[in-house]
Formats: sequence, structure tokens, C-alpha cells
Amino acid sequence: MSAIRVRFAPSPTGNVHIGNIRAAIFNWLFARHTGGKFLLRVEDTDRERSTPEAIQTLLDAMKWLKLDYDEPEVYQSHNTQRHLAVAEDFLRRGLAYKEDKGGKGECVIFRMPKQGRLTYHDLVKGDMKKKAEDTQDFVIVRADGSPVFHLANVIDDIDQGITHVIRGDDHVENTFKHIELFKAIGAPVPQYAHLPMIVNNMGKPYSKRDGAAFVGEFREQGYLPDALFNFLLLLGWAPGDDREVLTREEMIELFTLEKCKSSPARFDMKKLQWMNGEYIRNTPEEEYEREFVSRVKAAGLPVEGVDLKGIVAQMQVRTKFYRDIPGNCSYFFTETYPFDPKGVAKRLKGEDVPALLEKVAAAFEALEPFDQATTNEAVKQLAGESGMGSVIHPVRVAVSGLTEGPGLFEMLELLGKEKVCRRLRTVAAGLKDPAGPFAALP
Ligand code: GLU
Repeated sequence: MSAIRVRFAPSPTGNVHIGNIRAAIFNWLFARHTGGKFLLRVEDTDRERSTPEAIQTLLDAMKWLKLDYDEPEVYQSHNTQRHLAVAEDFLRRGLAYKEDKGGKGECVIFRMPKQGRLTYHDLVKGDMKKKAEDTQDFVIVRADGSPVFHLANVIDDIDQGITHVIRGDDHVENTFKHIELFKAIGAPVPQYAHLPMIVNNMGKPYSKRDGAAFVGEFREQGYLPDALFNFLLLLGWAPGDDREVLTREEMIELFTLEKCKSSPARFDMKKLQWMNGEYIRNTPEEEYEREFVSRVKAAGLPVEGVDLKGIVAQMQVRTKFYRDIPGNCSYFFTETYPFDPKGVAKRLKGEDVPALLEKVAAAFEALEPFDQATTNEAVKQLAGESGMGSVIHPVRVAVSGLTEGPGLFEMLELLGKEKVCRRLRTVAAGLKDPAGPFAALP
């Protein structure tokens, strides 16, 4: 049995920042890889922000990401007496003193060493050092009698038997203080691993202004928890080969702190979207189909009597977000599918388009069987010198309303000859009609 004990120690604020949950993910994987324990400590000493709702938001986020913990969660606010007793002990031993800072009453202040160097070995960042003269004594108990983060954090780590502190590198400076507190209490200093800063495209700290930054936002936007988990793991860690999509089991097997990187980790939203698509693509077919059907039905599209198999297969490989399903495939279910105005403007507004669509309809009508191969050949013949794109693009927008989707010939086969020909003719007529449905579009 490994004696490794790590913890996630968030301060609940009502939103769970991705930088924080990334720390939880790294701690969780480290514990699962080593057979150690992963604990949750709620640093809820800011009574105004740590409301029951804020704590619930935190617990929900952990549950959603399947970050289970091995002992009941510890609430820091329950340990205040213990924190204050240690401060008293420091005062008695001359390791701390009282001072009135700014006329608000006396605080308890911890003495930092005045000479020499403070050093520690960071498992991610390497050897860290600081001159004692560049540090300052700091407050451990406020004038109102409440313990400060540094004191509470270190004492709780001692009481929970934490062996490794894995957290964001915004805490590097604090670590020099924390180590002195461990020593003053006479407790073994844990090992530290500080994860690299998450940055935006400009190399600046990633913030709300750059896009979604809280777990709840990603959840609302339709990201899958496993995709977000995988993506956040790659912010500061890599498996050592070029794999990017990993199962939970693979992550647990491969996760070591040696593979953590110290250089800033760039948050690439495009990559997260791609990752989400990969997870949807890898979802078991029956599960995707269940999701698909429920979303299509919820959008009011009639699925009864439609042969779903081929449609589902085509859509699964190109769904990036479940919520986009109805909008991306309504044309399989209804004749009143909407037209993307940009697609109409770009592909259907040419003068010769109605005649082209009618020609295609006539050629398709004669096909037997009507499948990918025969429609492909027919389009090739019709296009001749001008290239297949000149036919493919207008036909696609005419029969689906959209500029993107499954390969055109797959789509045509799934729709079937009758629907395709009818739609081509209806759209051709609509385009010619000055009072028709396309007239209002640019
Ligand atoms: N409550 C602190 C934070 O969320 C804990 C830091 C730590 O992991 O020690 O930043």
C-alpha cells in the first residue's frame, strides 16, 4: 500500500475555474496511479463566498468529472480553533509576534528567516530558491481573530497527512512561507509540484475574457465531461508519445509527475472542440443513437418511420456538440428544413442555378439504382469541364439547406431518389419565383 496522500483544496466561490479543476485532475490521477489517497478539503473560510450553493457547485463539478475522493471531505472552517491554537503556540515560542498593522487592531505575524537562502525542490519546476532578505514576515491571524490562508492550509495539510502538494504555480511564492510554517510546527514538509500557468493565445494568463473559464460553462455548452477532463490533463502533461485522446485507464497507467511540463500551457479552444468531437465519435453507437433520437425528438422533428441507421452513422462521425444535432440534420426528417442564408447567397443565387437543379433532377430521375456510385457518376457527367464542385455545392444546399454535412453522395442515397428530385425541383421553382421563399434572402 502506498502512503501517498494528496488533496484538492479549492476555495468555493460559486464557480469552479478550469485552473482549479485541472489541479484536482492531476492530484486524482497521481493518487490513482500510485495507489495513494485522493482527498477533498473545502477551504471555506471566506464565509461570504463559501455559501452552501457555492459548495454544491464544487461538489457537482467533481461528480460530473468523476473525481471521486477517498475520505469524507474536510471543511477548513471546522478547524479554526486548531489553527488559532497553533498561532498561540508560535507566539509562546517567539516564532510569531503581535502587531497592529494599519490601526485595525493586533494581528499575529509569523517571523520569516532573516538570513541565508530558502530552497525547495519542486517536482515540476526543479530547484527553487529565494534569498531570505527578499521575504517578509506575514500575517497568520487577522485583527478580527480569523486565521489566514497560509496558516490554515498548512495545518490542514499536516492533519490530513498530505505527502504531495500539487497545485497551480500561482502558489509558488506562498510555498516558501508554507515550508517555514511546516518547520515551525515540526512537521515533515510535503513534496511540491506546481503546475504551469494556463495561458491564452497571446501567452497571457487565461481568463474569463478569453472565453469559457468555469466548469459549469463548458457543461452548459455541451462539452462531455470526459473530453474536458482529457483536454485539461494535456494542459501541463503529455503521455510521452503523440497520443492525445486517452481512456481514463490509460491516463491512470501513464500519469507521473515526471511527465508534467513546466512551460506555460496554452488553452486552445479549437482543440477542445475537436476533442469533444473525438469523444462523441468514440461513444458506443447505441449511446450516440439514444442521444441523437432524444435531441431530434425534442426539437420536434418526426423520427417515426425514418430508417435511422445510416443517418446516425453519418452524423456520429461529424458531431462536435450534441446540442447541434437537430440543426445539422433536420433535412433528414422534414420537408420544411431551414436554409442557411449564407449558403443560399453563395451557392443558389446564380442565374443558371434553377436550370442546373432541374437538369440534375431529370438525370437523377433516370437512375436505377439511386446510390452513391450512380449519383456520383451522374454528377460527373453533368459537370463536365466545369468540375464537380459546380454541381455538388448547389445540389447540397438545395437538398439540405446547409453547406456542410455528410458527403453529398452518402446524403443523397440516405434521402432517396424521390425526396431528392422533388426538393431539387421545388428549390428551382422557388428560386425563379420573384415572390418565392428565396426572394427575401440576399
Ligand atoms: N484554496 C487554495 C486555492 O484554491 C488552495 C491552494 C492549495 O492547493 O494549497 O488556491
